[in-house]
Amino acid sequence: MDVVMVIAMVFIMSAVGFFYFAGKKNKDNHILPDNIQQLLADNVVFYNKLDDKGKQLFEARVRHFLDTVAIRGVEVNVEELDRVFIAAGAIIPIFNFPDWKYNNISEVLLYKGTFSKEFDTDGDARNVLGMVGDGVMHREMILSLPSVRSSFLNATDGQNTVVHEFVHLLDKADGSTDGIPEYLLAQPQIIPWVIRMHETINSMRAYGKSDIDLYGATGDAEFFAVVAEYFFEKPDQLKQKHPDLYKLLEEMFSPSKAT
Ligand SMILES: [Zn+2]
Repeated sequence: MDVVMVIAMVFIMSAVGFFYFAGKKNKDNHILPDNIQQLLADNVVFYNKLDDKGKQLFEARVRHFLDTVAIRGVEVNVEELDRVFIAAGAIIPIFNFPDWKYNNISEVLLYKGTFSKEFDTDGDARNVLGMVGDGVMHREMILSLPSVRSSFLNATDGQNTVVHEFVHLLDKADGSTDGIPEYLLAQPQIIPWVIRMHETINSMRAYGKSDIDLYGATGDAEFFAVVAEYFFEKPDQLKQKHPDLYKLLEEMFSPSKAT
């Protein structure tokens, strides 16, 4: 065997190794759909409202998310669109913070439907849809696949489980999931936010009905996640019905737009 043959063999074996391990990586579910732009354009309202520069930034952040957070189906087939939905739901709440990266999640598990609540869950109505892990499930998020799909396919019903769970992660980033996202609130805004949050929760509890999902009245953290869904899915209605709440949420999520 001459030298050229040996070099060729080594090259071929390296290439085989590279593709084998690249394939393994895909099996670990860092899969990047190659038509992200089209999937976003066809299915994500938030993306479609952005200008061209904003769209490019959004796509880049979706790619980065999918490159760094594994998405794994548990007895379900995960479609490329599901991956794009999860990444979009992660990016929407932090889109106006270009440097924000989720440091508190490694993997999203997708379940076929309901799942048991052995961990820190989301209460009676919501625990079947999604939860952010704690303890041994630290850095994990569980979502039900049907709720991921309906989050975006019903884009204006005011409910988006993916956004809801990622807002919990944002809230959790300061050390406590307490409905007070300290990284998003300037110091002088904290007290007005807490006052408005508690007034609204008390009124929801007193009347037993509200245009805000009553699940939000179960506690501060749930209130924040629920009104964030409302803010991103039906901003005009929220602004009309709860102008103070809307303004505070706008200051949190879109500080440059808030007046
Ligand atoms: Zn929740």
